[in-house]
Amino acid sequence: MLKLYNTLTRKLEPFTPLKDKRVALYPCGPTVYNFAHIGNLRTYIFEDILRRVLQYRGYKVAHAMNITDVGHLTSDADVGEDKMELGAAREGKHPLEIAKQYEQAFFGDLESLNILLPKKVLRATDSIKAQIEIIKLLTDKGFTYRDEAAIYFDTSKLSDYGKLAGQKLSEKKTGAREEVIVDQKKRNPADFVLWFFLSGRYKNHILHWPSPWGEGFPGWHIECSAISRKLLGQPFDIHCGGVDHIGTHHTNEIAQSEAAFGMPLANLWMHGEFLQVRSGKMAKSAGTFITLKDVMDKGYSPLAYRYLTLTAHYRNKLNFSWESLEGAQNALDELYERISEMEGAPSVAMCEDYARAFEREISNDLDMPRAISLTWRLLKKPNPDKLKLSTLAKFDEVLGLDLLKGAADRKKIPQEVKELAKRREKFRAKKDFKKADELRAQIEAAGYTVRDTGTGPVARKK
Ligand SMILES: [Zn+2]
Repeated sequence: MLKLYNTLTRKLEPFTPLKDKRVALYPCGPTVYNFAHIGNLRTYIFEDILRRVLQYRGYKVAHAMNITDVGHLTSDADVGEDKMELGAAREGKHPLEIAKQYEQAFFGDLESLNILLPKKVLRATDSIKAQIEIIKLLTDKGFTYRDEAAIYFDTSKLSDYGKLAGQKLSEKKTGAREEVIVDQKKRNPADFVLWFFLSGRYKNHILHWPSPWGEGFPGWHIECSAISRKLLGQPFDIHCGGVDHIGTHHTNEIAQSEAAFGMPLANLWMHGEFLQVRSGKMAKSAGTFITLKDVMDKGYSPLAYRYLTLTAHYRNKLNFSWESLEGAQNALDELYERISEMEGAPSVAMCEDYARAFEREISNDLDMPRAISLTWRLLKKPNPDKLKLSTLAKFDEVLGLDLLKGAADRKKIPQEVKELAKRREKFRAKKDFKKADELRAQIEAAGYTVRDTGTGPVARKK
């Protein structure tokens, strides 16, 4: 039985899809105004594991996602600048150029991390009509009010507003960050914007569309209500995101969708915890904004980062440090090494006891730390290699660590590259970094990268 933790009920629940063996899955997509940081990417790895576990258990997964390319302000509480317009100003480009650029970078990151791509993706700017339809419905039903700046959702009209976060309206001052923002125009502090007009600080907002109420642009939350409904229907099975979505973004998605259509938005809500750096949230302002490119520039493989995230349960915070990434890289390299020493081809049969144990661990709210330790225990088992290889291949359908491919690539590193790495190490030891760098360039030109570990240099295919 597959058990998953539901944020809405605060319980571990047996999972049953709404429609036989089909699961509709919706994670919130990125706001494409900058590179994703590895904390954002931890959430997408958790969601990938969720999808892979569902598929492993025989479900067909309809995986759809939005791309936020308008309306997400620098504060979740409807104040500040539109992140897209900030990105555009920073780089002297049009917001949609910025969106295209970082959307591509985002999908590139997902592919490097072996994250299975959503089957359907819709941008906020390509779904304005569907968003306006919902705002119209909410207005007809009396859930909105307006002034010269915006159309707002009136949260006092819903008796169960805030149920996802377990917050009562009277306790709710504003978004998840507990910053108290006094907005005189709002009737209740938790009310949020559905549609901004081109007025005040948004007078010159570059992206805007006509609406029955006047020219403007949508607030952030409405796109997910519109896009998930359009791509997956309502209600759908699983809505997921990061824990930072609970208090405001997901709470407001629920409010809008339930008020407009009189039915739940999703059956199950799942949230991944933060990646922390020096015990704080990853943030540009604190100088702790690390991208996947930074990871690769330091010679680590994206899959080492994936491995690192699997060593913590998705509902626990994970502290990131370069040392812990080093440890993950060494562990992954050792896994590849040990598998590369195995002989023969994978058989059809598997180590059944291990396969059963693996399914048990992943079905217990995606317990990947235990699934990883089981993988290590399997390596030590005295079973025939071909049985172990087929079992590892099966595990990798969920782990996504390229276990067999990584092992095969290790066997293929040419002698010449290994020699270059050794020579480079000698120059490094003599502190002749110029020569060492020249040799690194030669290794890279041959399609390999070299990383210095405590036990010597390790070459790996790029
Ligand atoms: Zn969303």
